[in-house]
Amino acid sequence: MVKVNENYLKLPGSYLFQEIGRRTRAFQDQAPMPIIRLGIGDVTRPLAPVVVEAMVKASQEMGHKETFRGYCEETCTAYDWLRYAIQADYKRQGVEIADDEIFVSDGAKSDCGMIGDIFSADNVVAVCDPVYPVYVDTNAMDGRAGEYDGQRWTNLVYLPCTAENGFVPELPEGRVPDLIYICSPNNPTGAAATKDQLKVWVDFANQHGSIILFDSAYEAFITEENVPHSIFEVEGARTCAIEFRSFSKTAGFTGNRCAYTVIPKELERGGASLHALWNRRRASKFNGVPYVIQRAAEASLTDEGRAQTAQAIAYYRRNAEVIRDGLSAAGLAVYGGVNAPYIWARGPEGMGSWDLFDLLLKKACVVTTPGAGFGPSGEGYIRLTAFGDADATREAVERIKAVL
Ligand SMILES: *Cc1c(COP(=O)(O)O)cnc(C)c1O
Repeated sequence: MVKVNENYLKLPGSYLFQEIGRRTRAFQDQAPMPIIRLGIGDVTRPLAPVVVEAMVKASQEMGHKETFRGYCEETCTAYDWLRYAIQADYKRQGVEIADDEIFVSDGAKSDCGMIGDIFSADNVVAVCDPVYPVYVDTNAMDGRAGEYDGQRWTNLVYLPCTAENGFVPELPEGRVPDLIYICSPNNPTGAAATKDQLKVWVDFANQHGSIILFDSAYEAFITEENVPHSIFEVEGARTCAIEFRSFSKTAGFTGNRCAYTVIPKELERGGASLHALWNRRRASKFNGVPYVIQRAAEASLTDEGRAQTAQAIAYYRRNAEVIRDGLSAAGLAVYGGVNAPYIWARGPEGMGSWDLFDLLLKKACVVTTPGAGFGPSGEGYIRLTAFGDADATREAVERIKAVL
């Protein structure tokens, strides 16, 4: 008789977006005006023209026997031209990495979720609170999280991110974590860690033999000088960090699927090279990203591609500004939105996240995301995204101002 992985049975239902959907649908028929959705974190601008051209051209190549491509046999399952393009992108940001330290994949979500394969189930895992749920759920699936008590997992170390610490986690006082997830610029809070703040974590990880799993999916949204785009801008990171990046938010690839993970070759734990372990794992479980998509990703990193994708980023940034200014004018304490497409807003004193969600849904017909859904420290907050249509965003903000 088959036994299932019992860790899966401990997982709570993916309550947050289901519940948002349920409440929105229940209200939809009575809504006095069209509902505007500023909840889900998905891009809406079309792909850059050079990216589309590259996809069309690559698709046609696949239709001719001279230019047809099968499995990609290159190191790290990406063509060298894509690895060189990514390497050059890092170099522009002042970071030197070898091209074969780059593992191209179909998503940062997959990579963040699967990196646990190369680590023991005994490791102590630290996550921020509030947090991108992927880090928590995938560690629970691997048996590292303990039991869920309705709010928290018993074995995880939670690092509270609050207005007091600027939503950047402080070093833990109790148990020393082995694996530390840091997402900067952050989903959901929109906060971004400075170089000095990240240096504290890098020093801690090197001192204790921990590994920082650094998610920089939103690096393209950084506007401030002292905020690093990569953990590898911080001295010492090559001996303690793995970085996850994605074309999803930087080039509008959420439907195209392309991302990459960087593991320095000198990164070792217990005498083993993590680069070698991940390479081995990938060789056995992954056959790479479609040729057409790799060409699309490469095109997004050309000068023209970067100029075109920058226009979409600028569009979202203007939305972020509109949301920030509007909610501040409405009297809310507003965070994020400067280096990230997310705005994290504190509701009126004493009002819970779901109460504020309901108020904005029913009075303003605007869908937000309740902060409590990302962890206990998110209670009292809502998250709004800047990924929407500009006119709809302006309209939503006016409606919110009118009801608060
Ligand atoms: C959107 C997002 C990603 C990107 O995931 P993909 O699988 O590459 O689309 C990664 N991390 C965070 C925190 C995100 O919000």
